[in-house]
Amino acid sequence: MHPRVMVVEDENALSELLKYNLEAEGYEVEVVDRGDDAELRLREQVPDLLLLDWMLPGLSGIELCRRLRLREETEALPVIMLTARSEESERIRGLSTGADDFVVKPFSVPELMARVKAMLRRANPEKISTLLKVGDIEMDRETRRVHRNDREVKLGPTEYKLLEFLLSAPGRVFSRAQLLDGVWGHDNYVDERTVDVHVGRLRRGICRGKEVDPIRTVRGAGYALDDKFSKQ
Ligand code: CA
Repeated sequence: MHPRVMVVEDENALSELLKYNLEAEGYEVEVVDRGDDAELRLREQVPDLLLLDWMLPGLSGIELCRRLRLREETEALPVIMLTARSEESERIRGLSTGADDFVVKPFSVPELMARVKAMLRRANPEKISTLLKVGDIEMDRETRRVHRNDREVKLGPTEYKLLEFLLSAPGRVFSRAQLLDGVWGHDNYVDERTVDVHVGRLRRGICRGKEVDPIRTVRGAGYALDDKFSKQ
């Protein structure tokens, strides 16, 4: 599953830029533009990393960070604080805010992406691992290449994401609705039968000759990566 990043930033242009770049890196991104809204949202769902602006309407980033550290669910949540280049930015470095890292605006996007990746890797090594290997199927998420029995498998972008999703939890049965959500995203109005079409394409892509079909169709439930296959 993709690591989830929450961006709390009230400058629209900046949050759009961050969302675009984070999604290009394969993260699931949620943008919130007020500190108080972010606090409420974080009580419902905790992401894998928080990019937090310092100056926010509703509740400041520093205060939000301080409160997060007091709650068990979020005390270890990795937080990168975004601060404006001002005298204040130097001063807040000295404050104990509980942030794990500071980035001063304007920042270089590639540098911030590298810091996000490094922090996620530290906090959650298995989630960010680039190589997924199940049975004789190997997916390298850095190069986006898939191999089966040392043969390179060419997949379309949707089939690739579908396979990535299934490989991330071998044996687990995903309903069509869960696959739609995970692969196509929440905002897509795609028919559940579309899932069947793409599973069919994925099967044709990864199975050659007598190779075992690694995808199990569970009638009335959905699809899974066969756990018998994963134990090969
Ligand atoms: Ca701001």
